[in-house]
Amino acid sequence: MKCDNLVNPNWAKHGYIQVYTGNGKGKTTASLGLAMRALGRCWKVLIIMFTKGGNDYGELNSFRNLSPEIAQNLTIVQAGLDRIVYAKNQSEADNKEIQKGWELAKDAIKNDKYNLIILDEANIAIDLGIIDVDEVVETLKAKPEEMEIVLTGRNANQKIIDIAHLVSEINPIKHYWDTGVVARKGIEY
Ligand code: ATP
Ligand code: MG
Repeated sequence: MKCDNLVNPNWAKHGYIQVYTGNGKGKTTASLGLAMRALGRCWKVLIIMFTKGGNDYGELNSFRNLSPEIAQNLTIVQAGLDRIVYAKNQSEADNKEIQKGWELAKDAIKNDKYNLIILDEANIAIDLGIIDVDEVVETLKAKPEEMEIVLTGRNANQKIIDIAHLVSEINPIKHYWDTGVVARKGIEY
C-alpha cells in the first residue's frame, strides 16, 4: 500500500464534523465504510463504540484480521457493557464505561492523535445525558483543523447538528424491524 499521499492538498486543513443520524438503517455501517476508506489512504483512525461491549460484532472480527500494515493505523475502543442500552435499562455501570470512552475521545481530539475519529452511537450517549452535550460541542469546536470526526446514532442533538458540517439523516421508508425482524448476525452485528 502506498502511503505517500497522506498529505493531500485537497484534504489538509479541511477536516469536517459529520453526523449520521435518523431512525433508518446504515449509520454505523456508513461510518465503518468510511473507516475502511480512510485506512486505505494510510490515515490513522480511532473508532470508539459507545454503548457497545463484548465480542459479538462481525466488524470487530474483520478489523482484527486486517493486514498488519493497515491494522497499525487503527484503534478500536469499546465504551460499553455487553448489552444494549436504552433509557429504561441504563445503569451506573453503563454510564461509567461510556464516560471513560468520552475521556479517551477528548484526549485523542485535543492531542491530535488521529486523522479520523468515529464516535459510534455518541448521539445516543448524549441523548441519554451520559455525555454532556456542551462539553462535546466545546471539544469538537476546538478540534485540530485537519481532523475529521464522525458521530453516529439516532436523535442527534440540535447543538451538535448546529456545529456539524455534514448531517445525514437516514429515514426508514421501510424497515424490517417493523415486521418483527430483530438484529441479525452478519447484517446488524
Ligand atoms: P447499522 O449498524 O446496520 O448501520 P444503524 O447504526 O443505522 O445500523 P442503529 O440505529 O444503531 O442502526 O440501530 C441498531 C439496532 O437497533 C438495529 O440493528 C436494529 O436491530 C434495532 N432497531 C431497528 N429499528 C429499531 C426501532 N425502531 N426500535 C428499536 N430498535 C430498532
Ligand atoms: Mg448504529
